[in-house]
Amino acid sequence: MDQQKIDRLRAEKIAPQTHLINGRHVPASDGGTMDVTSPIDGARLTTMARGTAEDMQAATAAARAAFEDGRWADQPPSARKNVMLKWADLIEANALELAVLGVRDNGTEIGMALKAEPGSAAGSIRYYAEALDKVYGEIAPTGHDVMGLIHKEPVGVVGAIIPWNFPLMIGAWKLGPALAMGNSVVLKPAETASLTLLRLVELAHEAGLPDGVLNVVTGEGAVVGEAMGLSMDIDVLAFTGSGATGRRLLEYAARSNLKRVYLELGGKSPNIVFADAPNLDEAAKVTAMGIFRNSGQVCVAGSRLLVDASIQDDFTAAVVKAAEALRVGDPLVLDNHIGAVHSERQLAQNLQFIETGVAEGGSLLTGGTRLLEDTGGTYMAPTVISDVQPQATLAQREVFGPVLAVSSFSDEAEAIAIANATDYGLAGAVWTANLSRAQRMVRAVRTGVMHVNTYGGADGTVPLGGVGQSGNGHDKSLHALDKYINLKTAWIKL
Ligand code: ADP
Repeated sequence: MDQQKIDRLRAEKIAPQTHLINGRHVPASDGGTMDVTSPIDGARLTTMARGTAEDMQAATAAARAAFEDGRWADQPPSARKNVMLKWADLIEANALELAVLGVRDNGTEIGMALKAEPGSAAGSIRYYAEALDKVYGEIAPTGHDVMGLIHKEPVGVVGAIIPWNFPLMIGAWKLGPALAMGNSVVLKPAETASLTLLRLVELAHEAGLPDGVLNVVTGEGAVVGEAMGLSMDIDVLAFTGSGATGRRLLEYAARSNLKRVYLELGGKSPNIVFADAPNLDEAAKVTAMGIFRNSGQVCVAGSRLLVDASIQDDFTAAVVKAAEALRVGDPLVLDNHIGAVHSERQLAQNLQFIETGVAEGGSLLTGGTRLLEDTGGTYMAPTVISDVQPQATLAQREVFGPVLAVSSFSDEAEAIAIANATDYGLAGAVWTANLSRAQRMVRAVRTGVMHVNTYGGADGTVPLGGVGQSGNGHDKSLHALDKYINLKTAWIKL
């Protein structure tokens, strides 16, 4: 990566942004706009449309019309595949531009952003493009005088509501399988990170996606998100975000057309380190990155460290050392390891959690402070708090910031009990050289993803989804296709 190129891109002016409905750029119906500011330095980047419920209605109607006339769904699979492959190529060709634009908007360190955002998005679109002509229907094992056929049909119109931490990656996890199966989509990016998704949809049109098949409406969740949730034109809602919003979406579905709702919510994922871990130094470094990358704003972040009591002091000290070695600063400077916290609101919330953690008996070992305030940006020191009791706020509530809560255990049974003592169940890890113990822990810890002797990095070939209050349904892998199809039985008397 080339710092000069990044610096050139960060200096580019960003034009005022509008919705993208039916292949056209359109402003909000009442002309409303909202400022887009950067967490890097608080500067105003541009404006975007502050959508209204009418705007959402226009988008869902466009998506419905596009679905009903078959302009996408009825194309031969090979044609849909070609469009999506071209789209993936365009994402790749514009990867650095997209990554820098995204970092200006949301503050993620550029190294990670480049890999996780355009990198994952291109990978995901390509993966589902390649998959779409390999999805077969079924013939049921019936008696000889009938034939039972099971067709796989698109659901119709998909609404996708995306958070601000990894808009391109998470957006593509939903757009890839939804479009591959022939659906139309309306996309609602987070109000504080819409820029890259707007660009992503422009690229889809450039690749040949017909107008109306993929639409974007920007604005506030409580306005356009709610209108999407209540829409009678949306058949499936695919969401990543907070539990509070997830609950609202289920209510909207109940109050409208009983649309299917898939929720990928938060986590309080346990990273469990046994004394027999193969390489404790490596484990400490990976543990630090497992929570501190993107300033902890990662749904699968390993936010609870559960460490074997016999190595607690040494291991925690190694994690603190790794945390203190991370350089926090301007996310577009390649030498920095950790970028900005997404917003003032998020930063204030993080600091409040730390205060609560200490008030409840936790020991602050490092961090706990805002950094670089004079830049106008929102930066925070990686924070480690030990002696966190399993029922304490820091062990129970998702911070979504660079805050690691450390607890200890004395044996496997206690590690499992603490690991499972939250309402969440998204991710986790176990570090041990004992193969049987690793397998036992994978089975016993209630999560959607368990890492063994690593943390993070699971690619698009494996599913991601939570249990408990971490959500339902899966993004990634072939399993994600199921969310965007209906099964239809044809029962034929012969
Ligand atoms: P966070 O607190 O991390 O921003 P949210 O759940 O509020 O998480 O946001 C995730 C996504 O949900 C964003 O796109 C946001 O606009 C959207 N959203 C927020 N509130 C609502 C709502 N009431 N209805 C629908 N979508 C919403």
